[in-house]
Amino acid sequence: MVALTAGYSMNGYVATLGIDVEDWYHAENVQPACPRATWEQCESRVEASVGRLLEILDETDTKATFFVLGCLAEKYPGTLVERIAHAGHELGSHGYSHHLLSRLSDAEFQEDAYRSKAVVEDITGRPVLGYRAPSFSIHLRALEILSELGYIYDSSLNRVWASSRYGRICASKMKKTGRIYRVGDLYEVPMSRLKLFGVVPVPLSGGGYFRLFPWPVWRLGVRRILSQQGFYNFYLHPWEIDPGFPKVRNISLLNRFRHHVNLDKTEGRFRALLETIKFRPVSQALPEGPRLLKKFGRGGGTGLKVER
Ligand SMILES: [Zn+2]
Repeated sequence: MVALTAGYSMNGYVATLGIDVEDWYHAENVQPACPRATWEQCESRVEASVGRLLEILDETDTKATFFVLGCLAEKYPGTLVERIAHAGHELGSHGYSHHLLSRLSDAEFQEDAYRSKAVVEDITGRPVLGYRAPSFSIHLRALEILSELGYIYDSSLNRVWASSRYGRICASKMKKTGRIYRVGDLYEVPMSRLKLFGVVPVPLSGGGYFRLFPWPVWRLGVRRILSQQGFYNFYLHPWEIDPGFPKVRNISLLNRFRHHVNLDKTEGRFRALLETIKFRPVSQALPEGPRLLKKFGRGGGTGLKVER
């Protein structure tokens, strides 16, 4: 059985953590009840929940990548960008306005991905290297555009059958590079999955699945992923540790369940996960990860402070 203390410096395993910084009303599942036109009127809780996450990460001595939504970075530069960078975490982009990529033209996506990167870079003075697509809606052309815009990696490929919104990229277009992939000049850091019986992909990368699955099952699955793949990539949204956000009612029963299930248990499970596995920022999955730390370390780069 593999020890769950993972990291380059421990026993060769790498576990990475990405936080998709958005508010409770940005999620695609609640858009029928909270369309874009109403976002300004929705109660904003993201600053408080990001603050809570930062406390948890500090208490567990964990560094992560925060993929921040550009419109939120613009609105709350101090609490959602400077505070995160100051705590030594990596900053990435979650796009500017949380549009599914499948609904954007190439030019619209280019503008959105450029704007979100520029907003964060203007605040920190440091380059944004990574991108996380809303609802994992990545596609091949988007990867080319990200590369043209100066991104070094994407972390949006979620190869499970759980949602029709998830993007697909043909395996023949991806080249395996160590634990991750390369598509043209861009690295792809995929979301983790467990291949049950070597065939059925089980989503064990985080988010709603993390809230739904019993913790002992999740822990067992992660242990299996680490022993089989030597790499684990996990994600969470700030609103998933906030049981106090308004109940969303005018959506389907299924989507209401997905959005609200086990919110009161998530913080405890997240703490347990962080105490079980040593996580690192997502850029540390890249072959150049340790060198990126040196190149863009404190005072001139990704906001990554120290090599653990
Ligand atoms: Zn999102």
